Amino acid sequence: MDISELEKKCLARTYGRQPIALVRGMGARVWDSKGKEYIDCFSGLAVLNVGHSHPKVVEAVTEQVAEIMHSSNVYHIIPQVELAELLYRVTGGYKSFFCNSGAEANEAAIKLVRKYKGKSQIIAAKNSFHGRTIATLSATGQEKYKRNFEPLCKEFTHVKFGDMEDLEQALTKETAAVMLEPIQGEGGVVVPSQDYLLDVRKLCDENNVLLILDEVQTGFGRMGELFAWQLYKIKPDIFTVAKALGGGFPIGAMLARGDVMDVFKVGDHASTFGGNHLACTVAKAALEVIIEEKLPQRAEKLGEYLMSRLMELQGNHEVIRDVRGRGLMVGIELKKNGSYVVEAARERGVLLNCTHENVVRLLPPLVVKKEQLDRVVKVLDEVL
Ligand code: PLP
Repeated sequence: MDISELEKKCLARTYGRQPIALVRGMGARVWDSKGKEYIDCFSGLAVLNVGHSHPKVVEAVTEQVAEIMHSSNVYHIIPQVELAELLYRVTGGYKSFFCNSGAEANEAAIKLVRKYKGKSQIIAAKNSFHGRTIATLSATGQEKYKRNFEPLCKEFTHVKFGDMEDLEQALTKETAAVMLEPIQGEGGVVVPSQDYLLDVRKLCDENNVLLILDEVQTGFGRMGELFAWQLYKIKPDIFTVAKALGGGFPIGAMLARGDVMDVFKVGDHASTFGGNHLACTVAKAALEVIIEEKLPQRAEKLGEYLMSRLMELQGNHEVIRDVRGRGLMVGIELKKNGSYVVEAARERGVLLNCTHENVVRLLPPLVVKKEQLDRVVKVLDEVL
């Protein structure tokens, strides 16, 4: 029986699979079970910022596995405190709560807001994506993910992303927080104007409302700074991360200003696996690599290069409507559905994905080489 037949027999059919199985990776290169090599411009959905099998990450995993993987939050966990201390330092004083995914990090943020503010109304953005649990699906601003799962939480309203007037009009005395992705990823790589988040921060301050930034996809260097809020020169009250935090190992975190996080008391929130030895050791190793190898700066430089090359392509290919992005999250909006580009590029040895039906998204590991990006552009030129 082939793998797709076996999957049909014994797996939930929640994923549309591409017809390959990746079995090995190194930096920005991956190989499938038939030995075919690809340049990875997907990074396991913005997870592998440090690349596949980075030697420091491999060493951290193997050493920790041999010592202890898990003990539970009933005991002190040394790697958890070490990771929290590193995050505290690089963020300028945020406290961490660790969990296992982006959706869980956002759930934790929603709970923290409720306890801190004593109210529950949150304004989020249309076209946003915050996860698949009931509360994070309610926060998400795209109807296609919600169909068949109503009723959802009524406490979320949605405004046009990037539109201050819409946000001002939605604010009421009941608003506890505004929750946004700094740059919308799943929504088709939507970059707001440089002033937008600055204005949102000001509005939140004037109205005594918390600002939550969902950095699950933008975090850890991809946008050209360690966190996207640094690009916009603002500080959120709460922000959430996952994906690249673990360098490939599942871990998420909700980070908050000290006085906000301190309203959480013993028993208010918990996760059996949250922040265990293995997850935190791997995450700390991945974060050290991002800092030591200056991957945010690399993402900024290579991102500018990639965008300029793709804009050249736009001049030659009628089908490209727009090229946009920041750092190494780049979207090519097409005038038609982009799945043919994903397929044809894969056949030519480049892994990409398409979001929002017509936005081909490039999310290479931040260690990708310039020559590899040249190859990707050449393949896109052929395919388009
Ligand atoms: N928030 C954003 C911005 C995301 O892009 C995602 C996933 O793509 C999530 C939250 C959900 O993360 P997870 O799939 O780890 O629950």
